[in-house]
Amino acid sequence: MTGLANRRLLQDRFDAWSGAIVGSDSSRDSAEAKSDTEKSGALLFIDLDRFKQANDTLGHTVGDKLLKKVAGRLADVAGSEGTLARIGGDEFVMFLPHCYGAEALGKRLVDALASPFHISGHELLLSASVGISLFPEHGTTLAGLQERADRAMYVAKSQGRNCCVQFSTEVARREEIVQEIARDLSLALSRAQFQLHYQPLVQRDGGLTGFEALVRWNHPLHGLVAPAEFIPQVEKSGLILSLGDWILRQACSTCRTWQMPGQPRVGVAVNVSAPQFDQPNYSERVLRALDETGLDPSLLTLELTEGVLVRDLTRTRTHLAVLRLAGIRIALDDFGTGYSSLSYLTDLPADVIKLDRSFLNRELPESSTVVESIVNLAHRLGLQVVAEGVETDTQRTNVLDLMCDQMQGYYFSKPVAAGEVPRLLEERARTAGRVRELTPA
Ligand code: C2E
Ligand code: CA
Ligand code: CA
Repeated sequence: MTGLANRRLLQDRFDAWSGAIVGSDSSRDSAEAKSDTEKSGALLFIDLDRFKQANDTLGHTVGDKLLKKVAGRLADVAGSEGTLARIGGDEFVMFLPHCYGAEALGKRLVDALASPFHISGHELLLSASVGISLFPEHGTTLAGLQERADRAMYVAKSQGRNCCVQFSTEVARREEIVQEIARDLSLALSRAQFQLHYQPLVQRDGGLTGFEALVRWNHPLHGLVAPAEFIPQVEKSGLILSLGDWILRQACSTCRTWQMPGQPRVGVAVNVSAPQFDQPNYSERVLRALDETGLDPSLLTLELTEGVLVRDLTRTRTHLAVLRLAGIRIALDDFGTGYSSLSYLTDLPADVIKLDRSFLNRELPESSTVVESIVNLAHRLGLQVVAEGVETDTQRTNVLDLMCDQMQGYYFSKPVAAGEVPRLLEERARTAGRVRELTPA
């Protein structure tokens, strides 16, 4: 239907090509010996991310037309040298002899599918996850290459899809983790393998006002695993509800232990993921956790991203009203990475915005103008601004100049284990009053 090769033809072409290479190896001394690039190749495993949805909702006629268009775009990238085969409903394999720059090619494939498809009056959006393996490093048989490209593709999917990943030992390790996560996540919770690290939030004068709780998985084999590697998985599995509950309670009861008479209060910020916030009784669950752990609600900040907030605006408004009425603070996390940021800033009640760290890395002079206007608007609306990801003294001075209210980043401290927090608090008590505010020039 797509006019592409099938598994069989792909195998034949691969055999012919690799046979020729082995042949050239055995006549190494001859003048025709092939160069290394001529003897290398790349296999790309392409999996469409949302094809099944389109096929199910719009029917097979539309689905078939869509596949033909996808095949056309992929074939354009493959060019005349490559062999493109369809090996499953929405799976394609591309083999390219003498390929260098396979990752650039993978990106071109992802980009080629990113623009909308127009079919029978529908505008359809697809994306692809691409895994790459290289001949001969990752395998010399088609099956071996395909297996490794498939594993790399699996990692691409777990990274949020719409991207391409090349196989490596690091990918193999991550893929193992992804697989294990799917198997032992529920056990991990009952075996107490999760733990919270805490990263300080620092005021303009250097004073410490609180900590953000960041979850880690202390895996028996892989050591401390970062949240990016398992949160997406946990969200899909539904386990995020029990894990999220545990994180909230753990953070609240730990924060209670930080409060010392005669010392400024120390707050805690907890990240909330979409499935948690989607629960109709989410705000009640938070209030119950506060009640049961005995934490003063005004010490808790909930961090939510735009993506989580805009899923259902009516429910969002209800949750935010209940939570804020109880005295809990709401922070808009990763601010500036979404779409409608400024418009919803005026629209949704919040207390804090956390400027994404990508702002600090943008070299453009416009970037500070953008930050300046965000900070201005935020202040006019009565919101505090936290600059995330401050790593250098220059960045610290810049965000102070831009009138950010608080800062967070490796410059001050990496996230630390719970056991280290008291040391940071003692340090704070010792230096209190000694650090003067650095006012902008
Ligand atoms: P986030 O909420 O934006 O958290 C900040 C991330 O930036 C943390 O990564 C932190 O370690 C890192 N970071 C802090 N300062 C710096 C810096 O100066 N430079 C750089 N390069 N990075 C810095 P982490 O702990 O790996 O967490 C990543 C993400 O995972 C978080 O992003 C958050 O979205 C999610 N996450 C972490 N803990 C939880 C949790 O308990 N629940 C949920 N739902 N998500 C969580
Ligand atoms: Ca956060
Ligand atoms: Ca953030």
